[in-house]
Amino acid sequence: MTGPLHPPGDTTRATAPASAAPTGSCLPHGLRGAAPLLALLALAVLVSLAGSLGYRYSYDSALARQAERGQVQLRLYAQALESELAHYDYVPGLLSLDERIAALLLRPDDPARAARANDYLSALNTRAGTRVVYVLDARGKVLATSNWQRPDSYLGEDLSFRPYFRSAMEGQLGRFYGVGTTRSESGYYLSAPLGERDNPAGVAVVKIGLDPLENRWQGADSQMLLTDENGVVILASDPSWKLAALRPLSPEARDRFTRSLQYNRSPLPQLPLTTVRTLGNGDGDGNRSGNATSDELVRLRLGPPMLAQHAALPGTDWQLTLLTNTSQARVAALNTAALAGVLTAFVLLLGAAWNVRRRIINERLAARAALEAANSELERKVAERTADLSTSNQRLQAEVAERVRAETVLRQAQDGLLQSGKLAAVGQMSTGIAHELNQPLAALRTISGNTGKFLERGDYATVRANLDTIIGLVERMGRITGALKSFARKSGNGRRRAKLAEAVDNALFLLQTRVDAVQPDLHRDIDPTLAVVCDPNRLEQVLVNLLGNALDAVAGKAGPPGPRIALHAHLAGAMVHLTVRDNGAGLSEEAFARLFEPFFTTKPAGQGLGLGLTLSAGILNENGGSLSAANHPDGGACFTLVLPLAPHDANPQDAEHAG
Ligand code: ADP
Repeated sequence: MTGPLHPPGDTTRATAPASAAPTGSCLPHGLRGAAPLLALLALAVLVSLAGSLGYRYSYDSALARQAERGQVQLRLYAQALESELAHYDYVPGLLSLDERIAALLLRPDDPARAARANDYLSALNTRAGTRVVYVLDARGKVLATSNWQRPDSYLGEDLSFRPYFRSAMEGQLGRFYGVGTTRSESGYYLSAPLGERDNPAGVAVVKIGLDPLENRWQGADSQMLLTDENGVVILASDPSWKLAALRPLSPEARDRFTRSLQYNRSPLPQLPLTTVRTLGNGDGDGNRSGNATSDELVRLRLGPPMLAQHAALPGTDWQLTLLTNTSQARVAALNTAALAGVLTAFVLLLGAAWNVRRRIINERLAARAALEAANSELERKVAERTADLSTSNQRLQAEVAERVRAETVLRQAQDGLLQSGKLAAVGQMSTGIAHELNQPLAALRTISGNTGKFLERGDYATVRANLDTIIGLVERMGRITGALKSFARKSGNGRRRAKLAEAVDNALFLLQTRVDAVQPDLHRDIDPTLAVVCDPNRLEQVLVNLLGNALDAVAGKAGPPGPRIALHAHLAGAMVHLTVRDNGAGLSEEAFARLFEPFFTTKPAGQGLGLGLTLSAGILNENGGSLSAANHPDGGACFTLVLPLAPHDANPQDAEHAG
């Protein structure tokens, strides 16, 4: 079906799909253009949110795994350190058992005893693999030392300011990290009282180098730090960090260190570590020791964040700190973030695509519904129009029937008129006819009277001759009345062919009395074979009219020239033309204008009805011909009758003249 999709009146339905796009959008009209931008913005926000969540989750879990590994590493290092230090615990105690040391403490001034003690200490130092072993008296003066031969030997030095000395004099084992005052060599000092615990006669000290441990710590990804009770780094996998403070040192503490020369005037710079954030408690050991420390993310200056994990070293106030690089965790987190972002974008785009698809389907459904509505509207209108059409068709049919009826009535009226015209012509002829009949009747009366006399006389020859004359007269009268009867009867017997010359003969015969009265010069030029399409009776009626008018026009015309009527027929194509020309007065201007008007006549009452030319033109028109009139240049009127040429004698019956 073609035609508009939407009925013209249904504008709301027609515009609905267009105005509904985008479907379900509640945005005001002005913001509709910004919708794609907003959607992009929302997409970007959601993708970055997913990315950051993914980053955070992945980073945290990677850090947790790294922290677990770090704790294991830290525990291993702590155990190694602990066992390394415990390894030398026995050395100071051993000296208290040695008689050479005891002898020296009894007689410190005896050079022989001192030499023996020095030798012993030197041998012990070498065997134990320690850095220095030495003995102090109760006042803190070095009595003997393993390094007695070296120029920077401690021998004779007062080391009473050293905390390890004081601890030992108090009867305890001293543990102390310090930097040597003579050679600035850092080391771990272990001390023990000599003699009685309550009143020691001296102190035995052993200094251990921790450098081998440090060397073992050199790791690619991690930094290991050992801080003492003051928070000062005493061991570090990166040597440049050594003797730096991990936490801020108060001025008092710095003052104390200067006095005790613990770090031998080292500047103890603050390590530029800042805490980024504290993570959950990491170490189970830390919890056990009651010295819980949380794992944290720290940053050295502006460097990348590092995971800092701490573990207390049992038996000391020291703390091991492991700093590990978090770049792997960051890379993993970035990968996860990217994956989360891409996945989110994918899911969102998938959702958007689904939404678009759903919208398109909805729009199609709406369009189909609109189309169906339009179709049914169209069908309704078609049905309406069809109903209208059939109504007007019925009306037309009724009108046609009415016209047919009117035409029949008209035809009947026309027939009636023709008949009236004919009867009028008959009326006009009646005087002549009466005269025409009176003559033979008078002759009949005279001849029949004479014939009786000739019969009495026995003149049979004359009787015979008179009877022949009577028969001739009766036949003539019969022909006259027959022609009249034929002319006056209603035509319409369906004949459609008439011979022109015969029709002219019959008309002239009917008008014979008037022709005799006027006595015109009658000129005929008609091919006797010419036949026209017309009912012969009707054609005669036309000719009676035209010839009658011509006779009227020339009647009484005084010559010369005398009255003249000329009939001339010729063929022009398929039409036969017959001109009836007279030499009367011609047509007046008024007559010319009103010639074919019914009841127009210039003749006196009783002579003319004014119907002759009107009816003649009607008859010729009906048969596909015409009638025209003109004034001849040489004077007189000239009427031209035109009728179609009849096909050659197809039905001989048609040629038969109504006699
Ligand atoms: P009627 O003969 O009864 O008057 P017609 O219709 O035959 O009616 O003629 C109408 C009028 O046309 C006539 O009255 C006459 O004035 C004029 N007319 C017809 N034929 C001729 C003619 N041959 N010459 C002059 N006038 C004519």
